[in-house]
Amino acid sequence: MSSLLQIYEPGQTPAPHEREAGAAVGIDLGTTNSVVALALEGTAAVLPGADGQPLLPSVVAYAEDGAIVVGQAARAILATQPDRVISSVKRLMGRGAAEVKRLAGILPHALAPASDGGMLRLQVGERAISPVEVSAEILNALRQRAEAALQGRAVSRAVITVPAYFDDAARAATKDAARLAGLEVLRLVNEPTAAALAYGLDNGAEGLYAVYDLGGGTFDVSLLTMEKGVFQVLATGGDAALGGDDIDHAVAEHFLAERAAAGQAAAGSAAAKQALHLARAAKEYLSDHPAGEWTLEIGGQASRHALSRAGLEDLARPLVTRSLAICRAVIEEAGLTPDALQGVVLVGGSTRMPLVRAGVTALFGRPPLTGINPDEVVAVGAARQAEALTGGADTLLLDVTPLSLGLETMGGIVEKVIPRNTPIPVALAQEFTTYQDGQTAMAIHVLQGEREMADQCRSLARFDLRGIPPMTAGAARIRVGFSVDADGLLTVSARETTTGTEQQVAVKPTYGLTDEEMAAMLRASQLHARDDMEARLRAEAVVEARRAALALRAALAADGDLLSPAERQSLDQALAHLEQACADGGRERVTGAAQALDEASQSFAERRMDRGIRQALAGQAVDHLSDALGLAAAATP
Ligand code: AMP
Repeated sequence: MSSLLQIYEPGQTPAPHEREAGAAVGIDLGTTNSVVALALEGTAAVLPGADGQPLLPSVVAYAEDGAIVVGQAARAILATQPDRVISSVKRLMGRGAAEVKRLAGILPHALAPASDGGMLRLQVGERAISPVEVSAEILNALRQRAEAALQGRAVSRAVITVPAYFDDAARAATKDAARLAGLEVLRLVNEPTAAALAYGLDNGAEGLYAVYDLGGGTFDVSLLTMEKGVFQVLATGGDAALGGDDIDHAVAEHFLAERAAAGQAAAGSAAAKQALHLARAAKEYLSDHPAGEWTLEIGGQASRHALSRAGLEDLARPLVTRSLAICRAVIEEAGLTPDALQGVVLVGGSTRMPLVRAGVTALFGRPPLTGINPDEVVAVGAARQAEALTGGADTLLLDVTPLSLGLETMGGIVEKVIPRNTPIPVALAQEFTTYQDGQTAMAIHVLQGEREMADQCRSLARFDLRGIPPMTAGAARIRVGFSVDADGLLTVSARETTTGTEQQVAVKPTYGLTDEEMAAMLRASQLHARDDMEARLRAEAVVEARRAALALRAALAADGDLLSPAERQSLDQALAHLEQACADGGRERVTGAAQALDEASQSFAERRMDRGIRQALAGQAVDHLSDALGLAAAATP
C-alpha cells in the first residue's frame, strides 16, 4: 500500500469532514477521454478544465522526478517519453497479471512481476503501478477540476459510468479507483443508461429506447425500457473492434493507394502513421463540409488528396453497415422489431458522421436524439443521476447481467443460476445435493458464461462448503444463493439447510474480462450451441452412469457372496465396459453400457432385496411382520 501514499500529497484529498458536505458529480471515465459534469436543479453542465476543454484525455504520465501529470500535458509527453506514459488503462481494469501476460509485447509497458495475488502492475521507470492506481489519478484530476470549477467547494461523491459489458472485476476495480481518489461511489451506472438519463428519458413516456454508441475503437448498442417508473437495460450487443479508427484506416489506405499509383513512396510505418493522422482530420472535417483537399508529406515528397463526403461515405459504408447489422441482431434477439422503439440516443464521437445518422434514421424509422454533445452525453446523464441520488428523487435504474452466472456440477456441467440479461439487483438460489454417501464437503465453483461445460466458461471463484453432516447420497440439501447488487457485484453463499452450515464469498476475481472476450464468449456460445448441448447430454449420461456404477460397487462389496464366480465376472465386465464408455465413448455408448449394466445386475439386486428382508425379519414374530415391512397396520390381513 505504500505506493498509494506516494500518489497523494497531504491535503490533496479532502478531509473526511469536508467530504460529508461535498458535492456529487457525474463522471464518464472513458478509455480515451474522461468527462466530469454537475447537475443542479435538473440542469446539468460539463465542468471544463483550466484549458477550457470539456474532455480530459485519459492519459497519465509518471515523470522521473516523481511528478504525476494527467490529461493533455501527459499526452504531450507521450511523443518524447512513451515508456513513462500510460493510456487506455480502462482496457486493463480488473484484469489479472496472468491474463495480461500474453499481451506482453503488444502492451507498450513492461509488466511488473506479480507479487500480490496476481494483481497486474505496469512497470514505469522504477515504479510498479496498477491500473486501479492509474484510474485513481484520472479520477483525482477530475475531482480537482470539478472543485476548481465550483470555486473550491469539496467534491466527494460521484456516479461513475462503466460499459454495460464491464464484468464484476472491472466494476470492483473502478470502485477501488474512486475510493483511492477520495470519491465515494454513489452508484456505478452503465454508459447507455446514463446516455438515456441525459435526455430525461426516465421522466418521459413509457417505452423502448436504443442507445447507439460508436466511438473511436468500439461499438455498443443497448436496448432500454422505461416501464412503470422502472428504467431497465433489456439487452446489449456490440463489437469491441469497430469504430472511427477503422474508418481512419480505410481513408488512410485510400490516400496511400493514390500516392502509390502516382509513383510516390507510400510504404513503412511512418507513412502509415502520417496517413492515419491526416485521414482522421479529413474524416472529421467532412462531417461538416461537402469536400476538401489535403496534403500528405512523407519523406519530403508531398501528395495532394481530394476527398468528398460521398467519397468518404463509400469508404466508411461497410463499417457503418456492420454496426447497423449488429443493432438489428440485438433487436431481433430481444424479440422486437426496429419500429417498436420510441427513440434512439447517439453516443460517441463517430456519431457526428452524417452517414451514421442517416443509417440510424433509416433503421429505426425516426431521427435520433442529438441535442446533447455525443462526447458529453454520458457524463451529463451520470450527473443527473448523482443529483437524483443525493436529492432523494431516485429513479429506479435496473441494469442487466451481461453473461450468465452459474455453478459447476458433477461431470463438469454448468448449472446456470442467473441467466444472462437478468435485471439487477437480483438474488436467486438453487438447491443441490451430495453425490456420495457420507459426503461432508462440497466444492462450489462459480462460473460465468454461456457455454454448457465448465471448462469453456470463465472461472470466477471456488470455495468449499464443509461440515455437511454425513448422510446417504442425495439426502443433504445445499442451497446455493447468488446475489448481484446494483453495481453488478456478485456474492455467492452456500448453506446446508438441515444443519444451517453456511459459507459465503464475495466474488471479486483478481482480473476481469475485456469487451473483446465478453463478445467472443457470447459469439462462441451461439456458434457452439448444438455441440454444447450434445456435450452436456453426454456429461449428464456419464454422471448418471457413474452414479449407478458407484452404487453397484458398494453393493458388491457388501453382498458379493450372493453371486457365483461366473455371475460376478459378467458384472465386473459390464462395469468395465461402462467405465470405458464413460472415458471415451459417445453419449449413446454410455447410455447403452449403463442399460446393459442395469440389466446384468437385475437378479443381483433382487437377491439383495430378499436377503435384506430376511435379515430384517430374522427372529421376529409374525405380527411384527407388517412393521418390519413398513406396511400400515390396516393393510395387513
Ligand atoms: P470517442 O471514443 O467517443 O471519443 O470517439 C472518438 C472517435 O470519434 C474518433 O474516431 C474520432 O475521429 C471521431 N470523431 C470525433 N469528431 C468527429 C466528427 N466531427 N466527425 C466524425 N468523426 C468524429
